[in-house]
Parts: sequence; structure tokens; C-alpha cells
Amino acid sequence: MSTEKRVRLAMSRPMEGACGKTGTWRVFQPVVDRKKCNACGLCAGYCPDAAINDDLVIDLAYCKGCGICANECPKKAITMVREEK
Ligand code: SF4
Ligand code: SF4
Repeated sequence: MSTEKRVRLAMSRPMEGACGKTGTWRVFQPVVDRKKCNACGLCAGYCPDAAINDDLVIDLAYCKGCGICANECPKKAITMVREEK
């Protein structure tokens, strides 16, 4: 993983909106393979819920499991895994 600090634009942070905590919608959960990840931050930039922070930790209270992060990851480091309810 790169040790360089990524330059980030000002971004919103996840917060409870009219739909509540969107994490309750999730059926598939994104799981990051840190060995494949190069810390480019694209997943965080594309996440519609701003649920991925600067340390690439996913806030599951707001991640709705849309899979956009996994789709956009250039290293294919994110796998969508069905959750056990
Ligand atoms: S887009 Fe993929 S490679 Fe880039 S930071 Fe996210 S998980 Fe890592
Ligand atoms: S699955 Fe969707 S909501 Fe969850 S972290 Fe990825 S892009 Fe964001």
C-alpha cells in the first residue's frame, strides 16, 4: 500500500437523512482486500453515501451495499459479500 498522503477534495460526511441510516438497506457488504488495494481513494470518491473515510474504513451504518465502490476499484480489491441476517 502507498504511504503517500492522498490529496482529497472537501467532501460530505455520512449523516442521517430523510431515509434514516441507509446501512439498513444493505444485502451485500463491500469487503476490501488490503493486499490488493493501492490506497488510490477512488472508492471513497465514488461512494454516493460518503461512507468510506480517509483510512478507507467503510461506515456500515450508512453503506447501502450498492456496489459502486467495487465496480470502480481499479485493483478489483473490493468484493461484495452477501450478509447473514
Ligand atoms: S478504489 Fe480499490 S484500490 Fe483504490 S483505495 Fe479503493 S479499494 Fe483501494
Ligand atoms: S457499497 Fe455503495 S454505499 Fe457501500 S461503500 Fe460501496 S459505494 Fe458506498
